[in-house]
Amino acid sequence: MKTIAFLGLGAMGSRMATNLIAAGYSVTVWNRSPGRQSLLVDQGARLAETPRAAAQGADAVIAMLRDDAASHSVWLDPETGALPAMKAGSIAIECSTLTARHVTILAQKASARGIGFVDAPVAGSRLQAEARQLIFMAGGTEADVSHVQPLLMAMGGAVHQAGGNGAGAAVKLALNALFGIQVAAVAEAIGALSRAGLDPARAIEIIGATPVASPAARGAALSMLAKNYAPMFPIDLAEKDFGYFAALSAAAGADTPLADAARNVLRAAISRHMAGDNITGVMQLYT
Ligand code: NAP
Repeated sequence: MKTIAFLGLGAMGSRMATNLIAAGYSVTVWNRSPGRQSLLVDQGARLAETPRAAAQGADAVIAMLRDDAASHSVWLDPETGALPAMKAGSIAIECSTLTARHVTILAQKASARGIGFVDAPVAGSRLQAEARQLIFMAGGTEADVSHVQPLLMAMGGAVHQAGGNGAGAAVKLALNALFGIQVAAVAEAIGALSRAGLDPARAIEIIGATPVASPAARGAALSMLAKNYAPMFPIDLAEKDFGYFAALSAAAGADTPLADAARNVLRAAISRHMAGDNITGVMQLYT
């Protein structure tokens, strides 16, 4: 597998494509709007006018896009979509955080054309993407997942097979719900302790030294104490993922009161113009 098309050069995709080029793959890139394209071209990528043009002749096509709607148009648009242009025997890899339902439909459409499909969303944010430390949660056949493993390892540090198509997406949504719930809880705790007259930095130092504090909660607390809300994982993307988790859970008949509450915190932050802040920016609701 040598020739790769990479669709979507946002904060995550541009960093992932950079690592593919550095690993020696021949990469053609496409993005809806100009911007980071020239950066990738400077690094040696070819530029395509459409997803379809990028996908032609590629051994693998990787997408890293905002949401289901973006993914639908980039893969399936009748004029410009990538999937109809892919050669038989090639493989499509969806790394965006999407609904399990959407990626399952994409997988079926790929399979009907003799194309493999792996949903491979990632744990890790911009820094991990840059440092090739992303963790992939892969959904697909064992053969397809092991086929794409070396490619994914050029962009990350681990690949975990979650199950068949859609399983990677589902595990990723549960992971983000767990993360967002912790971030909301940390903000609430810091806010309450501060109002109660305690030094939040000292309180977090104590809590952080216990087994109760996860590395994610510790990191979120430090970002809140430093009032550093520069976007890594922005609030609007996190809220999108909670919506997808809610859809997955509702379809399965599962109640998710904690995820629903955390989503409401993110929505409150969005309504107060914090959509582009890092998820830890929810702290601003409590100060
Ligand atoms: P981003 O910087 O906002 O990039 C989004 C990408 O999607 C851009 O390339 C954008 O194109 C494209 N896009 C949006 N709507 C589109 C449409 N209708 N048609 C075609 N392209 C469209 O987001 P990101 O942080 O890279 O995140 C990308 C994906 O990774 C998301 O699914 C996100 O949930 C997931 N993720 C993010 C993080 C994180 O920490 N940021 C971590 C793990 C997973 P334009 O440049 O033209 O807008």
